[in-house]
Amino acid sequence: MADVKPLTRAAILAVGSELLTPSRIDTNSLFITEQLNRIGIEVVLKLVVGDSREELARAFQLARSRAELVVSCGGLGPTDDDVTREAVAGVLGRPLAEDEAITAQLRARFAARGFTTPMPEINRRQAMVPKGARVLENTRGSAPGLWIEDEDGLTLLLPGPPRELRPMLSSLVDGQLGTRSSGTSISRRVIRVAGRIESHVDEVLSPLYREWEALQVPIGATILAALGQIELHLSVRSASRDEADAALERAAAQVVEFLGADVFTTRGLAMEQVVGDLLVDRNLRIALAESCTGGLITSRLTDVPGSSRYVQQSVVVYSNESKTDLAAVPPSLIATHGAVSEEVAVAMAEGIRSRAAVDVGVGVTGIAGPGGGSADKPVGTVAIAVAASGSNTRSRVFRFTGEREQIKFQASQAALDMVRRMLISR
Ligand code: AMP
Ligand code: MG
Repeated sequence: MADVKPLTRAAILAVGSELLTPSRIDTNSLFITEQLNRIGIEVVLKLVVGDSREELARAFQLARSRAELVVSCGGLGPTDDDVTREAVAGVLGRPLAEDEAITAQLRARFAARGFTTPMPEINRRQAMVPKGARVLENTRGSAPGLWIEDEDGLTLLLPGPPRELRPMLSSLVDGQLGTRSSGTSISRRVIRVAGRIESHVDEVLSPLYREWEALQVPIGATILAALGQIELHLSVRSASRDEADAALERAAAQVVEFLGADVFTTRGLAMEQVVGDLLVDRNLRIALAESCTGGLITSRLTDVPGSSRYVQQSVVVYSNESKTDLAAVPPSLIATHGAVSEEVAVAMAEGIRSRAAVDVGVGVTGIAGPGGGSADKPVGTVAIAVAASGSNTRSRVFRFTGEREQIKFQASQAALDMVRRMLISR
């Protein structure tokens, strides 16, 4: 028997014409990548291809030339536009033959669903198996998967529907595929930073990157700027999960040493989760008065399961009158400083805190645009205040850039971050 090479590199082929339209996105490849990384297989290429035999054959050839493992998903259905089986069998030069056992299963499955008509003959296409291929059971649907091996590598054909693909691939990774990998796994960690710009984070961390590269078990780092936060993605390949976790833990601690309280998570958490955890930890309740964010901050806070333990109430106070009626902002303050001002944000935070009788109050007022700006207060000007029992109220005026939606999101992120900083300083 020929040597069996360990699998280290994979290419993913996502098949389906719908994936080439603006209305559908390939999400299977994210799951496939996550699973393969668990057993140390790195994804080096992804291709999205329509339901065309010729395109598929070419894409498959390319994928095969780049990686020992090719994982395809989709195009295993019974209809004419499902051509993965035929295209792959054609490239590999393996004739297709009907597997009677699969046909019998398909018929039984069809009957079990209570149809009175017999199974359409077209469904027998799903029983066609390339010579020498192994059939992978589909516990959730009709299309079986296929495992096809030759001297150049391994090809897995998986069904497209995520609920069918997921259990099939997971059991392969825990079993036959796992034992064929190099014995290492790739572990990842996402660290998130608020209140700094990407180039600054990069500059501060550059000595760490060099140190990590030179380690016996090197740590890879990628920096990404997202809206309202900078992300640092760390990855390490190791034979032992414990060793990988320890290496990532040490690296995360170093990042915190370099960036301090600007790091809001070393475990990939969202800002609203971090704030929620702090409120639970300190046994505090929060109330919000939101103007330009229109409830977005409260929406994000309540995305977290269990947030009823700390979210007391929230008011959207868009008009001047509502700021007075619901958040106790004196009309004279608005007349003197304008609705978008640090003074009004402070009054909103303190007003809602006292009205709701809670520990933490938040006030946000700003200009999300595109209209409504002035030379003095351009679009993107947002005043945010956080009032908390036993602390001085903190307030700040920000100047965000971008479209309306981006300004709203950045304002929500800044407000949550101010709450976070207030809580960790207590
Ligand atoms: P198929 O096996 O090609 O008939 O795919 C059936 C269904 O699975 C499609 O209609 C999609 O809803 C879903 N699907 C196929 N490929 C993907 C993919 N790459 N990511 C997410 N969903 C997919
Ligand atoms: Mg399809």
